[in-house]
Parts: sequence; structure tokens; C-alpha cells
Amino acid sequence: MMASSRKDACGLNGEEPSLSLTSNNDKSLVNGATTEASALSKPQNGGGTGAERFAFSPEPTIEDIRRMQAQFTDERDWNQFHQPRNLLLAMVGEVGEVSELFQWRGEVAEGLPAWTEAEREHLAQELSDVLIYLVELAEKCRVDLPQAVLRKMALNRLKYPANKVHGSAKKYTEYKD
Ligand SMILES: [Mg+2]
Repeated sequence: MMASSRKDACGLNGEEPSLSLTSNNDKSLVNGATTEASALSKPQNGGGTGAERFAFSPEPTIEDIRRMQAQFTDERDWNQFHQPRNLLLAMVGEVGEVSELFQWRGEVAEGLPAWTEAEREHLAQELSDVLIYLVELAEKCRVDLPQAVLRKMALNRLKYPANKVHGSAKKYTEYKD
């Protein structure tokens, strides 16, 4: 399914243990987060209803991830393959690998309470592959992703004013005055 290191964004499946994205081996395998964050991440039935909110570790930043992947790619002379279109297709392939993990399960509750630790770790790896390719795609397209996210979130707030859309799943076109 994913034996080739070429397929994975950063060799998380074995041969490159140096990358620290999943270096914490406690129970927080889904996110490799800190102990404090993992306490918050305990599966809750129906989750997201209380004050407790799952949070990521502050590091690595998106720029850290860009730099780690650039180093990984440089060390292997793989930039010759990592043009934007190839990176996009690779990312979509990784999205497919994430989808495989959810396929045929029916609805999955927040916190993935029915998943084994091995399944959670597999998901963590595939989501990481998606993120790593996304970050490298943005780099190769000269999109400053953190700043672009700020601009897009501002647009989303304009498009979906909280007082207008609260609790509704309607598309923004249905809110036009
Ligand atoms: Mg993968």
C-alpha cells in the first residue's frame, strides 16, 4: 500500500525516524502532541460540547515544516521531481490514503473513540503526509501559507458573519441581503 519511500512525503513509515513530527510516544499518537494537549485529546463521546477543546503543540510551525521538508528533499536531490503539479497530485494521493482509513466505517465520532492506537498512528502519518505536501506545494507556488490563512480567515468572517449564520449550514450565497 505504501512501501515506497518516494510515495510518502517524508519517510514517516520507518526509514527516516529523524523527523520529529511524531516523536512523542505517549498516548497522544494521533497528533504527537504534548502531555497536556494529549490530556485534552481524550476521546469524548460526541466531543466538542464542553469547555475542553483539543489543541495542537505550538511546534513545529508551518515554516518549520517547510524547512524540514526542504532539507529532506535537498538531501535526496528530489527537487527535480517536486514541481507544483507533481506535489499537488502527491497530496491528493495522500488524501486518498486518509480516506481509505475512514472508508466503510460509517460515521466516526469526534476523538475516534472506537479506533485502536495503531489506527490512530496510521491516521497521524497520513495526515502528516497531506500537510507536508501541502506546505511544500505552497512553497513551490510562492504562497506564504501562514499569511494566506490569515487573509482567508478574514474573508471567511466577512462571508459568514457569526450573527447571521449561527447554527446554520447554509451556503454563503443564501445569506445575501
Ligand atoms: Mg502516505
